[in-house]
Amino acid sequence: MAVSMKKAGMPVQDAQIRKTNFNEVALGYSAETAVEEAKRCLNCKNRPCVAGCPVSVKIPEFIAYMKDGRFEEAYQTIRETNALPAVCGRVCPQESQCEGKCVRGIKGEPVGIGRLERFAADCHMSNAVSENGHSDPDGPKAAVVGAGPSGLTCAGELARKGYAVTVFEALHKPGGVLVYGIPEFRLPKKIVSAEIDNLKKMGVKIETDIVIGKTITVDELFEQGFKAVFIGSGAGFPTFLGIKGENLNGVYSANEYLTRINLMKAYQAEYETPIFKGKRVAVVGGGNVAMDAARSALRVGAETVYILYRRSLKEMPARSEEVEHASEEGVQFQLLTNPVRFIGDEKGWLKGVECVKMELGEPDASGRRRPIEQKGSEFVLDIDTAIIAVGTSPNPLIRKTTRGIDVNRHGCITVSEESGETSRQGIFAGGDAVTGAATVILAMGAGRKAAAAMDRYIQNNSGVCGPSGGRA
Ligand code: FAD
Ligand code: SF4
Repeated sequence: MAVSMKKAGMPVQDAQIRKTNFNEVALGYSAETAVEEAKRCLNCKNRPCVAGCPVSVKIPEFIAYMKDGRFEEAYQTIRETNALPAVCGRVCPQESQCEGKCVRGIKGEPVGIGRLERFAADCHMSNAVSENGHSDPDGPKAAVVGAGPSGLTCAGELARKGYAVTVFEALHKPGGVLVYGIPEFRLPKKIVSAEIDNLKKMGVKIETDIVIGKTITVDELFEQGFKAVFIGSGAGFPTFLGIKGENLNGVYSANEYLTRINLMKAYQAEYETPIFKGKRVAVVGGGNVAMDAARSALRVGAETVYILYRRSLKEMPARSEEVEHASEEGVQFQLLTNPVRFIGDEKGWLKGVECVKMELGEPDASGRRRPIEQKGSEFVLDIDTAIIAVGTSPNPLIRKTTRGIDVNRHGCITVSEESGETSRQGIFAGGDAVTGAATVILAMGAGRKAAAAMDRYIQNNSGVCGPSGGRA
């Protein structure tokens, strides 16, 4: 039988039904479809797909197992370099990474690598197979700050190497953005907890409700006998637009809005989380965060949801699948549109936003064409809720309370590219805390690299139980 030029379709909930619930949108392949899709892989000798993966998953090798229906072996192959396959199979921007490099994509559609990864991981979870490798509770102690993808990956890698690893997390639940940011309909929380349970089974200790820099400092961790520390504290500090009316009631940062909905379960009737469920909502921004906020607003009862984005669809940073899903669900895209002022009523509640139309000029420093205001194109949209999703930066708490950590002008921790080590010996960092808001897989790659460097550092400095100044 001729091999299809298209990747096997992913079954999804119907758009009109799914926009009224928080259940997962994409339903996953059946075993039969997974094997069929795997057979599209050409097992290329030069493995371009692997070069496109930030954690170098052995893609042709895991797909070869899938062709034979050997799903657990496929999962274990992915797991060699990827600590959270079920998460990555769902949220990685495969179109610009592995699938963007797949040779099948030259004349047709690339192999559905992400969908196959998700299938292998879900299969593993449903069979409850135990994990390989275990930490040694009496081994050297290593600390990880932050239980997001970078911290969890680093912790898993260190546990496999036999370290006694403790992860310190500020929130009451581990997972970072995976639990407080990305909504249930894109990444069910049971998937994240199952991945975290795997780490716990490997002996990783996770202490929640501990804010490093407040409850305890990094220096105190060294005093407690930790030999090295990884900082994976993310970039959860919201950026605002700095325009008039931004402090009106009804204007949220996307972080606050999504945290109330996801982590604090505002969408479930049995939870009492206060959140204003507006009917006419404008989300400012064009990334994954903006799409998640817009689609969440629809699900909590908004009748009209706009995305206000100052460039065109082509420049939009969100994953194309999320843009498509949002549009199918009825989100209205106001492109080349920039808000200039929020308008309030006499009681201080938001009632509208004044926008201006933009046109695209020459490329700016980001390589994308610079948006330029079109004079006289102002117009007003009636809205009762605005959600600002234009970026985040790292929280300054850790750098302010830890001596000797250098940061760049955006407040991101600077590290050695090779090892992830900061300007202070024994302290490593990675993920959004270093790069600014980026992706799950890049955060995981950084956690993995730092774990290897921490292992070398601890081996070379056995006996060192405290900070010993700057890197030579
Ligand atoms: P985080 O996930 O932010 O985790 C950091 C953790 O550190 C948090 O749990 C935080 O509470 C904790 N912490 C912070 N300060 C302290 C402290 N002082 N003490 C103790 N703990 C602390 N990426 C994708 O690849 N695909 C997507 O589809 C996608 N969608 C996204 C949607 C949303 C809404 C958001 C916000 C981001 C999205 N991203 C996506 C980006 C991705 O989630 C991040 O790049 C990734 O989570 C970064 O991982 P991290 O471990 O560096 O940080
Ligand atoms: Fe298979 Fe595509 Fe990778 Fe080639 S590039 S090995 S076809 S997944």
